Amino acid sequence: TKCASSERWQLFDVANSVVSERRLKVTSALKTALDKGEFALYMQPQINLTTGKVHGCEGLLRWSHPDLGQVPPDEFIPIAESSGMIYSVTEWVIEQGLRYQKQIVEQFPSHVLSLNISGKDLSKRELTVQLITLINELNLNPRQIILEITESVTIGKEANLKEVVDDYRRIGIKVAIDDFGTGYSSLAYLSQLGFDELKIDKQFVMNIETSRSNQTICKATCDMAHSLGSKVVAEGIESLASYTRLQGYGCDFGQGYFISKPLAMSDYLVWLTKANR
Ligand code: C2E
Ligand code: CA
Ligand code: CA
Ligand code: CA
Repeated sequence: TKCASSERWQLFDVANSVVSERRLKVTSALKTALDKGEFALYMQPQINLTTGKVHGCEGLLRWSHPDLGQVPPDEFIPIAESSGMIYSVTEWVIEQGLRYQKQIVEQFPSHVLSLNISGKDLSKRELTVQLITLINELNLNPRQIILEITESVTIGKEANLKEVVDDYRRIGIKVAIDDFGTGYSSLAYLSQLGFDELKIDKQFVMNIETSRSNQTICKATCDMAHSLGSKVVAEGIESLASYTRLQGYGCDFGQGYFISKPLAMSDYLVWLTKANR
């Protein structure tokens, strides 16, 4: 048995070094990804569930590396955060997202754009300044820009979170609490922080048809958010049944593969034209 356990440890070491090797590769490739133009911002449509009309979209980052292939954001965003590269990544996302939004509102004036902001970004004043400057420069309506902050960030140590959120909202930029239901923040705390939208995490939406508790969670989230005067977005809608159920709960906006997967900008413009016909 001694031998077996040492073999197991060797396997464990091998597995570990494969993981850290991959991490090193991703970290070093990430350093040049921006300059080499390997990023793309994809757009996933959001529908107004009351009217059935297009509400806007969420910008989602895509990274395609010549050797590593498509690296998913769930893998590289945490690495960008821990290596301090996230600020320049977010700066790129803001610039690209707002330029796309400018292009979109020329044809679809009420279009709303949501962007993901990492918790680390909130302490960077420069990003707020960049955001405001670019909104002014492009003459965009700040009320049509939403910043998504994950719920886990709101329970973290970000000391000046309330100040930053207040700054955004004072100039009209909206704030959404992303992945709602996966963290442990109280709604009392969130309402004191101030937000405009709650995004129900897809884990509660994807299997809503088969899970009574997920049905309860989605319905309760809609009711609570509405009584606090905020809107609700459901992500991960994969079927007509989930779509109509959330509609029935009074959920305001919906997003998911049933409506559309995230699209490259040129495909999104085509999709918008068809959807608005
Ligand atoms: P998220 O913000 O919660 O984004 C939703 C994720 O669900 C996206 O994964 C989206 O492609 C996926 N999704 C949408 N509809 C469906 C559906 O019907 N079914 C299923 N199974 N999945 C669906 P994605 O694009 O891989 O992004 C993963 C996470 O990476 C995001 O989660 C977000 O936390 C982060 N991320 C993506 N883009 C950015 C970015 O520009 N900045 C930052 N800071 N984080 C980003
Ligand atoms: Ca999001
Ligand atoms: Ca989410
Ligand atoms: Ca997520």
